[in-house]
Amino acid sequence: MDRLLALCPEVAVDLNFSLDGLADTHDAIRGVPNNFARTLATIKEAEKRYRGMRRLRQNVVSVITRENYRELVALGLYLLESADLDGHYFEVVRGPMPACMFATMYYLGNLRLQFQLQEWCLERPKQWPMPCTAGRTAIVVDHNGAFRACELRGILGNLRDFEFNLSRAFDSEALRREIEQIPRANCWCTHSCFIHESSRFSPRVQLFHIPWGYLRQRIARRPELSARELEKFKALEPA
Ligand code: SF4
Repeated sequence: MDRLLALCPEVAVDLNFSLDGLADTHDAIRGVPNNFARTLATIKEAEKRYRGMRRLRQNVVSVITRENYRELVALGLYLLESADLDGHYFEVVRGPMPACMFATMYYLGNLRLQFQLQEWCLERPKQWPMPCTAGRTAIVVDHNGAFRACELRGILGNLRDFEFNLSRAFDSEALRREIEQIPRANCWCTHSCFIHESSRFSPRVQLFHIPWGYLRQRIARRPELSARELEKFKALEPA
């Protein structure tokens, strides 16, 4: 933050701290012990460092859920007394209930699809149910400006040669040729970024594979491991 403020004198910053309840509730929701106390300590530190700096606002954001709605007033009063904030904002957990349930289904279905494809392609490439969109919807840029369709494929050029204009790089002959070659390369991999990215552009995957993935994970919640395989995991558990 210090660097950002020094390097970008024209930028105004909202520093938003997430607190979803008093200590026990917040830590339980976040699943991180002492997170409430540590967040408060960070707020205090920021207060000290940036006191009087008008282009930096310090806020707390609380997401209202069924676990915390009863103590949000208490949280607001506590923060009024113990911190010097510019704002305290509240947001209902994203979406009404049907939308929430839909988002959960979509998320879990997506995860299931990703794990399944990673399992398929772990030992040897096996065709995904959708075309890979590497090079068309996303490219990978290395630290030095070199770019490629994905991490596993070769360098196609350097953004420097395109004056760092991404659109020109996307239009380049080298990338066009690479996109033609990818379907024939049989390079199906386990890279989750490109699995997600490619599935977003496939109506078949969106309408069939992801809902089916969700249903499968509902039906089979536990991994199917033999007793012998389970023993291996038990041996890894700390005493
Ligand atoms: S399938 Fe994997 S290796 Fe092949 S182009 Fe797509 S992301 Fe790259």
